[in-house]
Amino acid sequence: MHFIIVAFFCLALSSAYVNAEENDFDTILDEIVYSLTVSPQKSTILIDDMLSRWSALSAEQKSRVKVYQAILKTYDAEYQASIQLLREAEQLNSSDVSLNQISQYLATNYIALKNYPAALELMEKNLERISEISDVSIKVASYVRLANLAMELSAYQDMKAYAVEAMVLSQNLDTKQHCFAQLFVAVADLKQQEYEKAKNAFQRSKVFCEGNQFPLIGLMSRTGLALVAIETEEFKGSRKLLEHVLKGYQEFNFQTEINHVNALLSQTYLGLGDYAQAEEFANKVMGLSDEPSHINYKAIASRVLSQLYLESEQFELAYDYLESHQQYNTLILDDTKAKANAYQMAKFKHQEQAREIALLNQERQLMQTQKELDQSDQTNSLMLVTMLIGSIFFLSLFLLSSHRQKIRYRKLALTDRLTGVYNRGAGQDFAENEFIQISMRNANFSVVLFDLDFFKTLNDRFGHATGDWALKHVVAVVKPLIRDSDIFCRMGGEEFALFLPYSNQRAAIEIAERCKTAIENIDTKYSGHTFTINASFGISSNIEEDLSLDPILKRADIALYKSKGSGRNCVTVYSEELEHKDPLNGLDNGLKFS
Ligand code: GH3
Ligand code: MG
Ligand code: MG
Repeated sequence: MHFIIVAFFCLALSSAYVNAEENDFDTILDEIVYSLTVSPQKSTILIDDMLSRWSALSAEQKSRVKVYQAILKTYDAEYQASIQLLREAEQLNSSDVSLNQISQYLATNYIALKNYPAALELMEKNLERISEISDVSIKVASYVRLANLAMELSAYQDMKAYAVEAMVLSQNLDTKQHCFAQLFVAVADLKQQEYEKAKNAFQRSKVFCEGNQFPLIGLMSRTGLALVAIETEEFKGSRKLLEHVLKGYQEFNFQTEINHVNALLSQTYLGLGDYAQAEEFANKVMGLSDEPSHINYKAIASRVLSQLYLESEQFELAYDYLESHQQYNTLILDDTKAKANAYQMAKFKHQEQAREIALLNQERQLMQTQKELDQSDQTNSLMLVTMLIGSIFFLSLFLLSSHRQKIRYRKLALTDRLTGVYNRGAGQDFAENEFIQISMRNANFSVVLFDLDFFKTLNDRFGHATGDWALKHVVAVVKPLIRDSDIFCRMGGEEFALFLPYSNQRAAIEIAERCKTAIENIDTKYSGHTFTINASFGISSNIEEDLSLDPILKRADIALYKSKGSGRNCVTVYSEELEHKDPLNGLDNGLKFS
């Protein structure tokens, strides 16, 4: 649901200008504010009227006109043009309250353009201004916008906290803001998959907003109810809601919301088994350009088309749409990552301990998205099987056209999900191949094994998410220390291997030492906790008798075991004596470093 525009309304209506001087122009400007919510066409006419009398307006009035023009541009999804107008408005007016509002509108546009760092920067400035402002409506508006921003950044707990703040402040004071705040609370529940809560909250905001003459927010609330119905597979209910809502949005000529509703209707008709309608609505969405604000809707529509073509056994089409669905999903995932980054940056800058917690949620949400993507990959595999049974002919067509897809599958099968390095099977296979080539050339080959120390304790103390954080960061610091031709793989749990072709023992020791230091130096405060990560290393290089990778790995493992026995956080090179003595008794019978 495109709440950007909702928040726009909300802020457009805040009371900053209510106390304006009672002259003609101000009356017309107030009328524009009103008509923005009920009839954009009328506001266009009024704005044109003001533009024709431009030279008679005061600087503040000019600024207001530009702001309202900008709002209309945002309606039409012309975000860049809207930003331009707002920057001009900013130059014309310097009161704190107006600047606060203008930067909120700017943030809205930056969010729509997915320029999250710029949006966050504006919101931070505004947060600083909030305490200076005594007008509760403006405070509320700022919280609503913060909730909006948090939503765009997928930080739904924060979103709810801001929305509740706005809801409490606006109660019995400002029906418009209260209406918005209620809607945002409902959306936060929906996003956190609390469907029962969300349903009640949308129902409440619908009744409240429609009862207080905010039909548009009523429509948004109904869209929310439809989303809940779709999630809970009550497609009859969602159809009824969406048909009503579509008519409403058409009256407002609200293109972004119309696109969204079309996508939801295609999903609904698919659920109802009405494929013709599902196809029609999905095609409307697929006909849109690939601009960022359409991607979410196109992801929905392409999945619907893929499923309905699969049902009607048009496998080639089904495959094509599945592929576009995955492409859109990947874009969404990349965007989620960009948001998470922007959010992290903003949070670390202020070093607010409480906010660190939300950061971990952010990481979890990222993983959740990744999981969803995996699930859609599973659907993909299922489709492959169906196609195989369905038609050998199409299968061969598919094989021709799916080279890229295969590379993707291959990569998925070869890499470890959490860290992105090779998994054990793939890493060892590649290393074995390298080793054979190396043996033929009588060259050097070394293996570095390492295992994180007391990792179980880390999990126990700070939780599994922090453990995962540590694993990812260990990989991130080791990667830059090895060459592209080296093979990095997760052997399982918290144990990793580096296979180093054309590296002798001395080179392997050097790399292991550097990795050890890099791991020690990981700054863990960004995980929300403070601790140190250490690892124990075992090294072995090839000797003439080695016919495969196996004996080298075994020796590296013995050396690693020795490191563990000698107090951990050190590097041990294999030597024959290690095999004959108990490494746990601490005798210095390996070449131990550091
Ligand atoms: P040592 O220094 O002797 O290696 O002690 P350790 O605690 O590191 O070793 P142990 O084998 O007792 O525990 C390894 C722990 O690693 C247990 C397991 O729950 C945890 N682990 C394995 N895979 C993952 C993972 O993907 N994520 C997280 N967070 N923990 C993992
Ligand atoms: Mg360990
Ligand atoms: Mg282990």
